[in-house]
Amino acid sequence: FSLIQRETGFISGLVCVLHDITEQEKNDAERREFVSNVSHELRTPLTSVRSYIEALTDGAWQDPKLAPQFLSVTQEETDRMIRMINELLALSRLDQGTAKMELEFVNLNEFFNYILNRFDMMIKTENERNDKNNPMLPHEDKRYSIKREFVKQDLWVELDTDKMMQVIDNIMNNAIKYSPDGGVITARLMENHQNVVISISDQGLGIPRKDINKIFDRFYRVDKARSRKQGGTGLGLAISKEVVEAHHGHIWVDSAEGRGSTFYISLPYQTYENGDEWDAED
Ligand code: ADP
Repeated sequence: FSLIQRETGFISGLVCVLHDITEQEKNDAERREFVSNVSHELRTPLTSVRSYIEALTDGAWQDPKLAPQFLSVTQEETDRMIRMINELLALSRLDQGTAKMELEFVNLNEFFNYILNRFDMMIKTENERNDKNNPMLPHEDKRYSIKREFVKQDLWVELDTDKMMQVIDNIMNNAIKYSPDGGVITARLMENHQNVVISISDQGLGIPRKDINKIFDRFYRVDKARSRKQGGTGLGLAISKEVVEAHHGHIWVDSAEGRGSTFYISLPYQTYENGDEWDAED
């Protein structure tokens, strides 16, 4: 940029054209990086599927031990690719603002509790189950318990329930995924007159300080190999962020490496008064 200086020596203005160009360049660079990320993310599972199919074609199909194993890997990888494509489509709809928001007033205490009950149910059915393809039951043999700390008062907020359920499911799934066996997950619901805040704390690995600002970025994973092995796409938190922001809310994380993480979601909230009025001041 350049300074506009008067004859008197006073500076009377700044020209900031370069700022816009930099912004544009930044967007272009981000788009290029995104396309490159998508290509790489899809190339890895595709290459691995191809090599398993090659091995099967070369004779492994006749091996009663290897064949089912190889087929199962190709199935898992294809499932993950489909999940990734679906998540990318969801992200693209959110980006373009074409994701339709189906807003309704819900009792957040009940809504959050309903979601947590589903996770409680999973613990109970875990031992009996053998359905590996059910995405709602991804936590084989992991024991965990959920503690609730909810504000007593009923909090009514306007939500797209399907989308917000995906966000909470994702954070809960991560909390379980990155928790030690037997870990406690604490779910809190709080209110501060302008916002409702949901938080989910785990006693897991935590997130290194250097990664903390990046985990909401598309495809960012602290440990790529580990996430991939667990069927992760690295898109869950990026989608969560878009969804929460589409509700005019915020999402953030507080974490200490080795001591666990707490994810927070805050949503705008107005106190419900006298059964029929909204009071913005209170
Ligand atoms: P993924 O599919 O890898 O789980 P996410 O977008 O949901 O993708 O999360 C991005 C990354 O953030 C994860 O790969 C992991 O490194 C980190 N992460 C998310 N939740 C937690 C958590 N509760 N504890 C530790 N690390 C987490």
